[in-house]
Amino acid sequence: MELAMVDDCIVPLDQARISAHDRGIYFGDGVYEVLRYCAGRLFALDGHMARLRNSLTQMDMLAKTDLNLITERIKRAVTAAGIDDAAVYFHITRGSALRSHDYSDDWTPNFLLTVRSFHRRDGAARAITHPDWRWHRCDIKSLNFVANVMAQHTAHKKGAYEALLVDGNNLVTEATSSSVLIIKDKLMQTAPLTANILPGITRALLLEWAGSVGLATAEESFTVSQASNADELLITGTGSEVIAITHLDDKPIADGQPGAYTKIFRNLLYQAMYT
Ligand code: PLP
Repeated sequence: MELAMVDDCIVPLDQARISAHDRGIYFGDGVYEVLRYCAGRLFALDGHMARLRNSLTQMDMLAKTDLNLITERIKRAVTAAGIDDAAVYFHITRGSALRSHDYSDDWTPNFLLTVRSFHRRDGAARAITHPDWRWHRCDIKSLNFVANVMAQHTAHKKGAYEALLVDGNNLVTEATSSSVLIIKDKLMQTAPLTANILPGITRALLLEWAGSVGLATAEESFTVSQASNADELLITGTGSEVIAITHLDDKPIADGQPGAYTKIFRNLLYQAMYT
């Protein structure tokens, strides 16, 4: 059964209630994670918790947050939900207070989690390019997501699944909710972590696996033109898994079909998650 958890309390999904004065609402003042529960376990839990710790540290929220308690809540929620293949979303905000930009040192975190059935997306999709309008700390998985929301809505209106975000130097950073990689002449390339991107857990797995399938890797930024002329253009993420981008701004990538390596990576991820 899909469910929500507010602080320690499990409730039906549509009955989750939080304070109107949650700083997450006023300022997006919080951090979040999304992870998968499949084959009876939380996939890449350690990686997600390490990234969460980093987000909390950067946001000056770590001292008030009990990471063991968060892990315990996640486990309790997925057990209660009993869904075989689930997406677990949770966020921690800097508590509730009447609206004021600054915060007092005396705050208590608010926690919200949902467990929902996971529905696998198609292995092939279209993408558009869109200016990267986000702030300069995209390494933090914060709740400030309005630039991503706007870009993704633009993509959907144009019949595409994702928007590849392009910075002021015409370099592709990442996509609105996924990492972006290209493969050209057996070299897999993705923007470095210094390029103002989220350290994607799935991205890291593909970098780790590349050698075993015969690909060299480079964490180096690439241009829109490099993406358009790649042998394969792909996106990765907890929700997207591995998806081939077959068309960018309506132009086909290579022959406009999912590439061989992208399919291999999609399979490898599937095996890692389900076996
Ligand atoms: N980049 C952004 C902006 C994201 O929001 C996400 C996922 O939410 C990703 C990349 C992919 O990260 P992960 O593979 O850890 O899900």
